[in-house]
Amino acid sequence: MSPSAPNLILTNAHVLTLDPARPRASAVVISGGRIAWVGERHRLSPATISAARLMDCGGQIVVPGFIDAHCHALAYAASLIAVDCAPPAVSTIGDIIHAVCQRAQRTPNGDWIRATGYSEFDLYEKRHPTRWDLDRAAPNNPVRLNHRSGHACVLNSAALSRVGICPDTDEPPGGTIARDLNTAEPNGLLLEMDAWLEDRIPPLGDAEMHDGASQASERFLMQGVTSVQDATPSNSLERWDALRRLKAQKTFTPTLSVMPAAAHLDEFVANNLRFGDGDEISGLAHAKIMLTRSGGSLFPSENDLSAIIAHAHGHGFPVAIHAVEADTVIAAAKALEANHAPGLRDRIEHASECPPAALDALLNARPVVVSQPRFIHDSGSRYLKEFGADAGWLYRFKTLTDGGIVLAAGSDAPVSRPNPIIAMHAAVARRAGSGEIIGSTERLTPMQALTMHTSAAAYAACMESEAGTIAPGKRADLAILTDDPTGASPETLLNIGVATTIVNGRIAWQA
Ligand SMILES: [Zn+2]
Repeated sequence: MSPSAPNLILTNAHVLTLDPARPRASAVVISGGRIAWVGERHRLSPATISAARLMDCGGQIVVPGFIDAHCHALAYAASLIAVDCAPPAVSTIGDIIHAVCQRAQRTPNGDWIRATGYSEFDLYEKRHPTRWDLDRAAPNNPVRLNHRSGHACVLNSAALSRVGICPDTDEPPGGTIARDLNTAEPNGLLLEMDAWLEDRIPPLGDAEMHDGASQASERFLMQGVTSVQDATPSNSLERWDALRRLKAQKTFTPTLSVMPAAAHLDEFVANNLRFGDGDEISGLAHAKIMLTRSGGSLFPSENDLSAIIAHAHGHGFPVAIHAVEADTVIAAAKALEANHAPGLRDRIEHASECPPAALDALLNARPVVVSQPRFIHDSGSRYLKEFGADAGWLYRFKTLTDGGIVLAAGSDAPVSRPNPIIAMHAAVARRAGSGEIIGSTERLTPMQALTMHTSAAAYAACMESEAGTIAPGKRADLAILTDDPTGASPETLLNIGVATTIVNGRIAWQA
């Protein structure tokens, strides 16, 4: 217990601690940003009570602050100030042209316009916009329109010329420059080229980034999220510094774990930065590796993947491998099994498609799996169309949990908007926003869904001694909810609101 006096006591609360040693309590004492004591209010001495500020929770539910175990903080910040091209803001390519055109009218000629959130599946035309569509919207500005997945984007002609893409440009490894079928001219659509574009498109200005990051921070806090793990595959030393600046300026309130990109790991090592380095408010996490399927083959190849994992392990970094498709999940799990390093807690991000062979590989390798339940809510209807009867092999949360795999949840923001309550509902009900059920045998209990967003998410980042449960000595990161998510039916789960969010013992947000 911290030696300093208690400064905040939550009373009249239903505390769900997620701590097996004391699952429930009615009071929490906070001191110096830490949880000092958890128990029943009548056990508190009058002296303790009179020394602190009392917060009467009115019988509401106190849970560990939600942890978003996989998001992209800077991209989310940028998305909040970009032209919104996600439904319901747009439903046709014409709507996108209109929205970008409006932004062009108040943007100086030659300045970049950023737009984000489209998905060809959601558009009436069922196709990606092209450079020529965007040229109509903003002929005098370079335009970058990001796909909702974060793995594709469309550039207009001015933007293609700024980044140096012409008909004979070679594709970078793993990337695809889509072309017009008749003329072979690049049509503006670029797949898996974010890291390549990173070096060629100027970052947002400080003022814009500050504005976006404070909006992102507010949105995390209003959903009860007190910590986020940034899994951006282009995280360089420069981005780490940018994120640390946003934390130091108190622009971004949730605690931040930043995964260095495996491709940039040597920059960190050369600067004597190691796994877990940082401070109370931001730390260095797993080395992030992208494993994708491009033109029928894996990128990186299985041999290269092994070498990248061994290199990260050699520097003391566990790895987090992005693997969505079944063959990438299998290759990632096998590579982790072959490169197992005692004491390093590797993870696989997404593990979306899990037919039996992928499941076997995961259960053999036993990585932590960090997945995105909210995708079932957002994209369930598309999954049913694309996968048909095999949609039940997507996001196999119950099978993985029953198999003893630690399963944590992330929003993948900006891919989906951070909202742990909707994500928990998706994990429990397996129901798309449009009503269809996806894989009803993979339903989790509400407690398992809560665990994914709290204690398991802390474990995924090796932060279990700091966060994820309400226990003495841990950071006082808490969310106060209007109702008990573990007692709720799937229907009532969606009605639960966040009343208060406490970060490091301070009230950071209140409804
Ligand atoms: Zn992601």
